[in-house]
Formats: sequence, C-alpha cells, structure tokens
Amino acid sequence: MSPSARPPLLTLQVQGLYCEAGDFFVDPWRPVDRAVITHAHADHARSGHRHYLAAAPGAGVLRARLGEISLQAQPYREPVDINGVRVSLHPAGHVLGSAQVRIEHRGEVWVVSGDYKLQRDPTCEAFEPVPCNTFVSESTFGLPIYRWAPPSQVFAEIDAWWAANAAAGRASVLYCYSFGKAQRILAGVDASIGPIVCHGAIESLNRVYRVAGVRLPDTALLSDVTRAATDRQTPDPQPLSRALVLAPPSAAGTSWLRRFPDPSDAFASGWMALRGARRRRACDRGFVLSDHADWPGLQQAIGESRAQRVFVTHGQVAVMVRWLGEQGIEAGALPTQFEGDEGEGDARADPTAPRS
Ligand SMILES: [Zn+2]
Ligand SMILES: [Zn+2]
Repeated sequence: MSPSARPPLLTLQVQGLYCEAGDFFVDPWRPVDRAVITHAHADHARSGHRHYLAAAPGAGVLRARLGEISLQAQPYREPVDINGVRVSLHPAGHVLGSAQVRIEHRGEVWVVSGDYKLQRDPTCEAFEPVPCNTFVSESTFGLPIYRWAPPSQVFAEIDAWWAANAAAGRASVLYCYSFGKAQRILAGVDASIGPIVCHGAIESLNRVYRVAGVRLPDTALLSDVTRAATDRQTPDPQPLSRALVLAPPSAAGTSWLRRFPDPSDAFASGWMALRGARRRRACDRGFVLSDHADWPGLQQAIGESRAQRVFVTHGQVAVMVRWLGEQGIEAGALPTQFEGDEGEGDARADPTAPRS
C-alpha cells in the first residue's frame, strides 16, 4: 500500500496533533496521556499532561516552567519506540532544547518542525535538516517581506546603541521575551560595554541555561546592584547609568523600570520589521531579531526536508501554501492554537500591540 493510500500518520484532534498509530500527541493544547513536546515556549508546552517526552537539553527549562512533571528527556537523534512508532527528536535551532519531531511508521516519515530558525545561535544546537515524506512546518514569518539581517549586524547595532547610551549616562532598557531571546542577546552582545541587569523572570531562566552548559556573560538582578551600592554607603548611580537592562515586555511601565535613570528603551523582535509594530511599541529603537526562520529560511528548510507534502501551520499560512503549490509540492494549512512565543508568533494579530 502506498503511503498516500493509508490514513495519515498525524491527524488534528481537539486536543492537538495526534499520532493514532503511536497513541501520542505533539504539543497538545489540552491535557493528554502522552505528549511529545517540541520546546518549552508556553503555547507548545502546556501543563496537565500525564507524560512528557522532550529533548534532553530542554529538560531544565521545561521543569522550570511546568514544575514537577513526568518527563522522559531524550537525547537528540536517539529514537524511542512508542507503541511500534519510531520517534526521534532533532535540533530545531529555535531555543535551548527545541526539537523537530521525526515520526516513522511502516516506512513513512513525518517531521513536525515546531518553531525553528536557520540563523546561528550560540545558545542552542543548530537546526538540522531531517529528510521526510511529510513536513509540518511553522510559518510565523512566512511572507517575502521577512528577511533577517545576519545576527552579527544586529548585535553590532545593539552594541552601538548601548555604548552611546552608556557614554551619555543613560541606561539601555531592551525589551525581549524572557525565554530564548534574552539569552541569545546575552550571548551576542559585547559585555565589556557595561554591567548587565536582568529582570527576575529572565534571570531565573539564565540560571537554567548556565546549568545546561550555555555560556552567558555575568548578569545581575537590580536588587544585587542596589544592595552593593548601599553596602558601599555610596548610592552610586554609575553602574545603572551604564547598564544594559533586559526586561520582558510585561515589565514596561512598572516601578521596577523606574529605578533606572533616564533610560533609552528598545525592543528586540522579528516584528520590529513592521513599521506599525515599531510605532505601537513607541520605543526609541527596534532591533529586528527573531528566533523564527525568515522567508528564505523557511524555503530552505522545506527544500532540505525533501518532503513531497508540506503542512503549514503557526502564522502566515496562505502565502506559503500558494508558493509551495507553485513549486509542485502538495501543500495544505493545518489550523493550530499556537499563540506565539509569549506574544511573538502569531501574525493574525500583531502581538506587539498592547493587550487589552
Ligand atoms: Zn511557537
Ligand atoms: Zn517557540
């Protein structure tokens, strides 16, 4: 029997993407018995499942976010048998521990990409093409307008902004998502420019990254810096006025941020490629830095998968499906309930817009 004559290996159920042959779900959004998790962003890794399978490098982050769970932490590329279905996890290059899920049954192979990027990121293993018959690809930035500059260029821009602020005695407040983006920024900036202060939500994940062996520059909590100044009995604003301050978007307008003297603020996100998003954020600067593939990256990953069939999910679906059809690839949309990484993800509603 040809693969296309058999029922599809994965189908969409109310709980999420389901493999009936193996009786498990991939990134389900409702509680299930057995969940295979691509990565620990909140819209992919939900609480309440009875058993979790995820890539070993992401175990610490998953536990930090979900608490004590029944977790099988599987090394990348090492297959596990689930009810006769061969499942393995392969680096997706998105955040620490992010994985593509390879599912093989009776000679047919599906790969569920999860979120991925092809750009270099020293905080996680690089995306690895996995040949398959059917590729389920995210498409968060699946429009031709999205083309990322090399990370080195973006980090040079961030460094120049930070250095200029430091020279002028202003703190540099950079808003970014606390899991993944913040650590990538830490690993990418020139830490010799000044001290780095992180919001507690970011610092707790920095710790998990360091435990996992990811090298990050020294960071401090605001309370550490102010306590040190008090101990010296010289409430010296100098460190704070030279600091790079990483904060989640939710910290905007809080008393925590008012501790920094006359800050310049900026936002780091793929959405900063859109003028409307930049204007709504009303920051001094917007740095275009994304942990998702851009349009050429999506095309490259889909090509390297050598899939004859592609399901597009998570973001800008229609244009990508049309493009795939033009390439002679069987393509369809797969509706999901992924909301995006703490706001970065779903382009149906610009996630940088203020939440009401
Ligand atoms: Zn996502
Ligand atoms: Zn994600």
